[in-house]
Amino acid sequence: MKVFMVTDMEGVAGVVSFTQQSYPDGKYYEQAKLLETAEVNAAVEGLLDAGVTDILVWDGHGAGGIHFETLHPAAKLLHGRPSPPWSRLNEVIARYDVVVMVGQHAMAGVMTGNQNHTQNSQTIDYYKLNGRLIGEIGQIALYFGAFGLPLIFLSGELDACREAEALVTGITTVAVKEGLGRGSAISLSAPEARRLIRAGIRAAVEKQRRDPIPPLVWPGPYVLEKRFFHTDSADTAANQPGVERVDSQTVRLHGNDVRDVIYR
Ligand SMILES: [Zn+2]
Repeated sequence: MKVFMVTDMEGVAGVVSFTQQSYPDGKYYEQAKLLETAEVNAAVEGLLDAGVTDILVWDGHGAGGIHFETLHPAAKLLHGRPSPPWSRLNEVIARYDVVVMVGQHAMAGVMTGNQNHTQNSQTIDYYKLNGRLIGEIGQIALYFGAFGLPLIFLSGELDACREAEALVTGITTVAVKEGLGRGSAISLSAPEARRLIRAGIRAAVEKQRRDPIPPLVWPGPYVLEKRFFHTDSADTAANQPGVERVDSQTVRLHGNDVRDVIYR
């Protein structure tokens, strides 16, 4: 089994603040990268425990969340901004069998979700796909699902785990903190978070071998509705060809392939 690991920072135990930790000008940003990388390494250890040797870590946090020097030697790192063109990234995704997520946060608007947001924490009110609210977990599950990769494991904040479970029946999740609000949470200790991630991802791989979860595919055609906090963001989005302006803050994108709409 070849594993593609999508990583983020806001769902890592101990990383509780956008301004102090998750934003690149945060006072404790470098320390937060170490916390994230240690959780990623715990996931890599768990994969190795399960006999997985081909592991690609995608640094999915805005300005980068992986501390390169301390990344586990068994992992390769896909990183850099801007992200590669989808055409090139798609070739890489197609080499893998399953997708897993580490360090994940809930979608924008989840009341208790620590650092809840969807893509851009300063501009996006919500995304709805075919009328259903989705966040970054849904985006990954559906995009990778279109390539035949099931999402089999997620670690992060408790609301993110609930969000993943609502999307993917049978997914294994590990909650490393319980959000109390957008800026507060109860975190497990770092060693305990890492212990649970290592054991959880191993169990997810073993379960996938016994009783496979299918890739997540919703029936098309697809309508992605994006609502922004401010009208200028909607103005910019509406300037792309084929984008429908719904109201002053909302646009809709249409497509027959989910991959054509979900990251536009
Ligand atoms: Zn992030």
